[in-house]
Amino acid sequence: MDFDYPNALRFKCIKCAKCCGDTTEKTRHILLLREEAEKIAKATQQPVSVFAVAIADKSPYAFEMRKTARDGKCVFLADNRCSIYTLRPLVCRFYPFELKPNKARRHTFSYTDECSGVNMGEQLDEAFFRKLFQLACDKLGEPEKKVKEKKITGKTDKGALSAAHGLRHAGN
Ligand code: SF4
Ligand code: SF4
Repeated sequence: MDFDYPNALRFKCIKCAKCCGDTTEKTRHILLLREEAEKIAKATQQPVSVFAVAIADKSPYAFEMRKTARDGKCVFLADNRCSIYTLRPLVCRFYPFELKPNKARRHTFSYTDECSGVNMGEQLDEAFFRKLFQLACDKLGEPEKKVKEKKITGKTDKGALSAAHGLRHAGN
């Protein structure tokens, strides 16, 4: 496993739920793998169409989560908490990070500082990003090599890597 990750970045989710729906600045796209949608449907005993719409051009994702007309938040957000937390999709687990291939044929983690938890909590180490990378491999059901070719984004289409932090390299 070979990747670059932000140096000395602190992060802790403060459960503000900003990433669980639209904000005044952006429209959120909460994408789901087919298997994720099917598992949520089974657990919540409702058809996928109740909580998500099929999408055709965002492989490997097959659905986009519905949001409420009232506040533009994910339909599974209840009292500012995720009501399907153990089944939440990869994009939710990945936020505020993004993983994409780089020119050195490795891959790079970046993050968006839109997230209120950036610069809060403990400093993230290599093990944190290694675990996140492994999660992507597991969720996509593909070997490490295939995952490296993909861009994996956590509910944001703009990863903003802070130059102030720089990058660290991890490899084995
Ligand atoms: S925006 Fe960041 S801090 Fe807020 S709920 Fe999402 S991940 Fe947690
Ligand atoms: S599935 Fe859960 S974590 Fe993901 S956007 Fe919806 S409420 Fe938030």
